[in-house]
Amino acid sequence: MSAQCEVGLAQIVQFLTGQMGLSQQEQLQKHLDSGCEQCNERLSTLTEFDDTPEEPQQDQLLAQPLFDTELQPSPMNVRGQATLIRRRLYEAENRICLDIEQVVIKPGLVTLQGQVLVRGGGMDEVVDATVSLINSDAVARETSVDEFGDFEIPDVPSATYDLRVTTGNMEVIVRGIQI
Ligand SMILES: [Zn+2]
Repeated sequence: MSAQCEVGLAQIVQFLTGQMGLSQQEQLQKHLDSGCEQCNERLSTLTEFDDTPEEPQQDQLLAQPLFDTELQPSPMNVRGQATLIRRRLYEAENRICLDIEQVVIKPGLVTLQGQVLVRGGGMDEVVDATVSLINSDAVARETSVDEFGDFEIPDVPSATYDLRVTTGNMEVIVRGIQI
């Protein structure tokens, strides 16, 4: 909240253009959320002028959240343990839907279950899709979807990941999923 914030303009630009590492990005987000006037003003100024979006890379789609439950206890737990479930839906350009369910197995360890759906498309567009969890620009976990577009990634350590779905002709990115 100090008037002499040490965050430079360049960092705000990197933040906006996604050139920042995940942990740095999180830190800066926290900083912005804490209400630093200088940074928030710079951010909104830059956002106002940013009316020419970057040329997207070849068929790379950025997924937007549609729906998000908070972590909530599962009523279906047969083992009587305090399992927590969070469900999120993402959509990319009306073409791809991602349904992601996160099940907390124990504190700090999560199983991700999900489904990749193509709007108005056949399942053959999804077959052989790869789902990757990316942490600090490295692939932490990777799996393939089955013939229904379903996937499961067990025992994921809690962290913030990017999730990437790669099909034959496109790549869908969900940024900053907290797991
Ligand atoms: Zn600041």
